Amino acid sequence: MFPHKKEMRTLIIFCSLILVSASGISAQDSTNTKNQAMKTFEIEKSETEWQKELNAESYKVLRQCGTEYPGTGKYYDFYEEGSYHCAGCGSVLFSSDTKYHSGSGWPSFYDVISGDQVILEEDTSLGMVRTEVKCATCGGHLGHVFSDGPKPTQLRYCINSASLKFMPAAKVR
Ligand code: FE
Repeated sequence: MFPHKKEMRTLIIFCSLILVSASGISAQDSTNTKNQAMKTFEIEKSETEWQKELNAESYKVLRQCGTEYPGTGKYYDFYEEGSYHCAGCGSVLFSSDTKYHSGSGWPSFYDVISGDQVILEEDTSLGMVRTEVKCATCGGHLGHVFSDGPKPTQLRYCINSASLKFMPAAKVR
């Protein structure tokens, strides 16, 4: 009789442990599913996190759709060889091969490295109809694209320096 009780007690402890760990996994799965459902971009952060990670200028442009003053951005009159990445998430966006001097006051490119890396949205702010360019990975505002660029695309990606981070060609993998 005594060994039977001992076995029962062991069984009860074992079952309790399974229930505790099962409920833990279940709660975690439920949270993950909820977060997945709310996600729009591959990289999403709270405003507090973005504010902590970005400098004031990049935060204003990337997260609040700000625009730097023309001619003031660090990549406006800058023509080194390399790639331009999103200052928010590091995603590669533009190559120095497609950068040109548009005279607009903002860094200009006639193409993106890959169309998958950006998303284009209609922007009707400031009483104009423009096409906004956003990072497809984090949703950060980069600038706008216009159809008065040079050949071969005739596009002008008018991008804020503050939304970009330049990587010299030697460092590109
Ligand atoms: Fe990004």
